[in-house]
Amino acid sequence: MAETQLVPRGIKDPRVLEAMRSVPRHVFAEESNLLSAYEDMALPIGDGQTISQPYMVAVMTELLELKGTEKVLEIGTGSGYQGAVLAELAKEVYTIERISGLADRAAEKFRALYYDTVHVRTGDGTLGWPEEAPFDRIIITAASPRVPEPLIEQLALNGILVMPIGSRFSQQLLKITRTENGLKEEYHTPCVFVPLIGKFGWEKDSS
Ligand code: SAM
Repeated sequence: MAETQLVPRGIKDPRVLEAMRSVPRHVFAEESNLLSAYEDMALPIGDGQTISQPYMVAVMTELLELKGTEKVLEIGTGSGYQGAVLAELAKEVYTIERISGLADRAAEKFRALYYDTVHVRTGDGTLGWPEEAPFDRIIITAASPRVPEPLIEQLALNGILVMPIGSRFSQQLLKITRTENGLKEEYHTPCVFVPLIGKFGWEKDSS
């Protein structure tokens, strides 16, 4: 997967490539998709949600510039796959999922694979996790028309936030860095994610 899908498309960070090589994506896929677990595509994980394409996981992770000391907040636990990749690369991972069945299944997988630094919560991730803020890195793995204000507030100085931003059906990755002079924004890869549903995202599931 790393050699055929990630390196040829420009993923360079050796730590990200190593994490992508070591996290067993098949453990996070549904049983009916085991044979496709390492293919170049998003996979259904139930409840109308998806585990993101490996390339998209790698791009977002690379944009986070993780060194190993960071406290990371992920919004959209889904299958738990992205959370496991983050756990390989950061100190602590806090991850929030709005669908309790998915959050419970992901928490079981983190336990089974001994990812003890990952903490899972069910709820509206657009509100963040104020008791644990500030976060050095924030990654939102669902699409929103705007950056949720509470997440900006919970981003540490020199912190980085990465998320897909745009319409329901087409977005671009946005990277925000909090500097001493304010927020710096950069736009990256076009993408298509499921919607971020919550107080500071899309209002409801229908389009
Ligand atoms: N990171 C996941 C993985 O590795 O499998 C993929 C995430 S999937 C593309 C997006 C997830 O965001 C879905 O599981 C969805 O239920 C969740 N989600 C949507 N709105 C949310 C919100 N306000 N708070 C938390 N999770 C949310």
